[in-house]
Amino acid sequence: MNFNDYTPVKVSCGEGIIAQSASAFSARGTKALIVTGKHSAALSGALPDITAVLESVNIAYTIYDGIGQNPLISACHEAGQTAREIEADFIIGVGGGSPMDAAKAAAIYASNPALAPIALFDLNWEHRPLPLILVGTTAGTGSEVTAVSVLTVDETMRKRSITHNDCYASLSFADPLYTHSMTRDITISTALDALSHAAEGWFSPKRTDMAASAARNALPLIFNGLRVLDSNGPLSAPLRESLYYGSLWAGVVLSVTGTGFPHPFGYALTEDYNIPHGKACTAFLPALVERARQYERKRFDEFFHILQCDYEGFNALVRRLTAVELTIPISDADQYLQRWVGLKNFANTPGGYNTALAKELLYDRFHIV
Ligand code: NAP
Ligand code: FE
Repeated sequence: MNFNDYTPVKVSCGEGIIAQSASAFSARGTKALIVTGKHSAALSGALPDITAVLESVNIAYTIYDGIGQNPLISACHEAGQTAREIEADFIIGVGGGSPMDAAKAAAIYASNPALAPIALFDLNWEHRPLPLILVGTTAGTGSEVTAVSVLTVDETMRKRSITHNDCYASLSFADPLYTHSMTRDITISTALDALSHAAEGWFSPKRTDMAASAARNALPLIFNGLRVLDSNGPLSAPLRESLYYGSLWAGVVLSVTGTGFPHPFGYALTEDYNIPHGKACTAFLPALVERARQYERKRFDEFFHILQCDYEGFNALVRRLTAVELTIPISDADQYLQRWVGLKNFANTPGGYNTALAKELLYDRFHIV
């Protein structure tokens, strides 16, 4: 057995779970800061459920709704300051990966007033963060169960992530009903993100038995959902549920293995071309699977057995759903390649990876002019 994993988040799943969990909120204090984006918390139904349960047990709350997509560290810092000002006992992050990741950072800033925004990336704050509850509204990132927070540095507008045990929520609520309001496009992109987490982890040299087992759960749930989305099928409740639970299992995989090169490569497409995170990363996934075809044949065969699909069919589906066709100036491509020198994700890829291969991939996949 190969087990060496720490996945400490209590996850409470099911429809209507928040209304049934008042005592979990009151156990964490009497004042809460809700960290969220502009619209989806209300649109999804999560925010009204949360405020109703807080009111039912006399927890005072303030809502900080200044978190955008690919959250800025300045907004997370401001949310942390707000938590301090209202003397919050705990933080509730509500939304997709962006507000959930922002809430993780805000919880750290809140209890570390001397920590400068950028110093978060040094990973040596003094005090433990405020307790954190997360409520997901997209079926993709798995941030509910990971120790990862992906943020954007204001000065450079580049994405950077931290991974630290202090970023684990103490409790996550997973109610698939909150994902029903996602548009088809957001549903596709977030499902692709979950597919990449499960696939990158499946082929990772850091894979443990626990990660493999979580990936065996995740992959069919996500891939069958993507097949329905690919054929323009209905966004039914069972589809939503499969995608959401699949994304949580994929989050467990990511939590154990981290990501391969598609993730950092995808960041560049999000930053410079506004391609949503899931589509951006998954555009590079076939290249990682190709490495597995050459260097991890056993896992490669089992992967396609689990998906009940062949290599060509997989690539074609991914290509249709990512549909990322870009013309990239050569100067930008050169910059990306410089930035990727020595990426730790290269070692987390079957057969390894390097910038020479990355260059080939960029020129093969996009129009570089
Ligand atoms: P997101 O950036 O949180 O949200 C994307 C869009 O979807 C926003 O416009 C959001 O609205 C909207 N939305 C969210 N839930 C909705 C719902 N139920 N109904 C309708 N619209 C909804 O998207 P995401 O893909 O979940 O998160 C991406 C971020 O997570 C990226 O920054 C990525 O790098 C990061 N990430 C983190 C991890 C991790 O382990 N922590 C893993 C992978 C990715 P609002 O603006 O109103 O919120
Ligand atoms: Fe991701």
